[in-house]
Amino acid sequence: MLNEVLKANDEFVENFEPVSLDHLPQKKIAILTCMDCRLTGFLPDALGIGRGDAKIIRNAGNTIVGEDAIRSIAAAIYSLGCEEVLVVGHTECGMAHADPAKVKAKMMEMGIAEEDIDAVGDLATWIGAIPGEEKNVLETVETIKNHPLITAEVPIHGLIMDIATGKVDVLVNGNEE
Ligand code: ZN
Repeated sequence: MLNEVLKANDEFVENFEPVSLDHLPQKKIAILTCMDCRLTGFLPDALGIGRGDAKIIRNAGNTIVGEDAIRSIAAAIYSLGCEEVLVVGHTECGMAHADPAKVKAKMMEMGIAEEDIDAVGDLATWIGAIPGEEKNVLETVETIKNHPLITAEVPIHGLIMDIATGKVDVLVNGNEE
């Protein structure tokens, strides 16, 4: 697979006209969304986001486990000028069906020691299994809003995207909170 990627890169670079873009997002928004492969080349277009427009943070299930996503959102707000945050979940999210027992079995099959797996505590929490796509968006918005290092001056919106059509529904309008 690496060779395929490198070959594609050679062809891309050969045909690409470099343009100069600022690292600060032109639309001043940060988006926390899922790593789902079906959102790649899809979600930005569906939201009118072009190259250089927004900070996009992706993880499994657009959820907050530990501080890493918060760190990126804080960087987007305090270092990069983002003035709004969008949490965008999607229908048919794989993390709504994450099975910790299966994950554990696969880990052990691939040589991970059981004691190391057990050391993380609740594996479902660690892996970021979500309670349902919409509920997860609502909870994630609340977690971000209530974090002591996230300013109340920045609205946190919650949306859910239909993975088939790209249509979003607003679950939380941060301007109305
Ligand atoms: Zn997902």
